[in-house]
Amino acid sequence: LFAVLRIGHRPARDKRITTHVALVARTFGAERIWIDEADEKIEENIRGVTSRFGGPFAIESGVSWKKVAADWKEKGGLIAHLTMYGMPADESCAEMRDAKKDILLVVGAEKVPREIYEIADFNVAVGNQPHSEVAALAITLDRLTSGEWINRRFHGGSLEIIPAERGKNVIASEVQE
Ligand code: SAM
Repeated sequence: LFAVLRIGHRPARDKRITTHVALVARTFGAERIWIDEADEKIEENIRGVTSRFGGPFAIESGVSWKKVAADWKEKGGLIAHLTMYGMPADESCAEMRDAKKDILLVVGAEKVPREIYEIADFNVAVGNQPHSEVAALAITLDRLTSGEWINRRFHGGSLEIIPAERGKNVIASEVQE
């Protein structure tokens, strides 16, 4: 099971990028996201996507990241902090896959508190250049699932997309779970 913890969210500036972090979390195999600052708009938006396109995917904002991290550890999960200063993703992801434990992926915004490097079991670098939390999360989940996220089935949504060579083919889902 994968979950994401988004820290340093600034509702005034980061709405779009944090929404993208949540969308990528949902699509690439995570089951939930916690966001440190309260942001009802993002919650509504992601719940809307989940009710249209399916889940399971949970979102909660306005949480204490320290508490989320401590609870996660207490339940026996691993914490992986994504940072350009960390260790190569391929090695770290292989180790995490072998551990066969739940993994909490932590991504930052502008500045990341020093402590997070300490509480993390893994500090994971997707290359050692600065880029984006969205890209870092997508690549890490791709590695952790060995690309299997693409086969994930979503349930309970009202819409289903049928792949089309041109245009959009969206149908109403037959089964409501
Ligand atoms: N300057 C910030 C810091 O103190 O680390 C990073 C800002 S960066 C725009 C936002 C987030 O993207 C980071 O906290 C990290 O989670 C992620 N990120 C950016 N580049 C990364 C990389 N090369 N590897 C892993 N994660 C990265």
